Amino acid sequence: MKNPLRNTALITGASSGIGAGIALALAEHGYNLIIADKQTLAPEKKEMLENHGIEVHFIQVDISKPIAREQIVAFCKDKTTQLDLLVNNAGISVDKRQDMLEGQEDSFDKLMNVNLKGPYFLTQSISKWMIEKRNNYEEDYLPKIINIASLTSYASSTYMAEYALSKAAVSMMTKLYADRLAEYSIQVFEIRPGIIETEMTKPAKVKYDKFIHDGGLPIARWGLPGDIGKAVVAIASNLLPYSTGEVINVDGGYHLRRL
Ligand code: NAD
Repeated sequence: MKNPLRNTALITGASSGIGAGIALALAEHGYNLIIADKQTLAPEKKEMLENHGIEVHFIQVDISKPIAREQIVAFCKDKTTQLDLLVNNAGISVDKRQDMLEGQEDSFDKLMNVNLKGPYFLTQSISKWMIEKRNNYEEDYLPKIINIASLTSYASSTYMAEYALSKAAVSMMTKLYADRLAEYSIQVFEIRPGIIETEMTKPAKVKYDKFIHDGGLPIARWGLPGDIGKAVVAIASNLLPYSTGEVINVDGGYHLRRL
């Protein structure tokens, strides 16, 4: 396999959690990184990534805002001649888990803006730039886009319905962009994390500890951000050249039906 040294990836939401796991895995594989996050990237985290001999650029933005998405694209164009990988990872959960019969419109709008509208329109802008630069890419390393969805794309969770809806839409977004961009040799994939140990799942730690302990997952442990990082590297390494629109479940086997 050719060393992808000096390829550049844009990752949203990589100051913490799963995004940070993806950033580390890509840094270990020689990718220069552009990180866009609404919370700052701690200097020690940036240094830890740079210790892998790569460049790390950080922009503090809220991807749900149109102006912020324009800023991200301008920032990327300033830092690199082309982008090889976009990982749409940034996302939020509900502020409060509650029965969908009680859910409010403001929470619905917020979830859709961050989890769907943000990545949808960022992908539109970035893919246009990838198309513009299409003659620059080597045949072995065509540009790629990876969307981080969730097991809630298909599993009913009535206490965070608007989150599930936003993630189900991200799954369709993967199919739509995979179809539209295939003619430009841009591959689009979806990763579906299961129960991953991050800030997002902290409020439900007791519930998920019990679920795993009671046999809810075939692979009986919490997922880690590094598990998602490895899946991103597997796709980014170009070992799936004849696939697009594929879903990779990284969930300890949660999606398997059992008798
Ligand atoms: P997290 O809360 O630990 O980290 C999310 C990161 O995204 C943070 O750094 C945050 O600042 C950033 N972010 C949030 N909103 C943003 C915005 N509007 N603009 C820019 N940055 C923003 O969450 P996580 O668990 O690491 O989740 C990462 C992704 O994985 C999300 O899309 C989430 O829906 C998805 N996911 C997580 C799990 C899980 O079990 N943790 C499972 C399935 C899917």
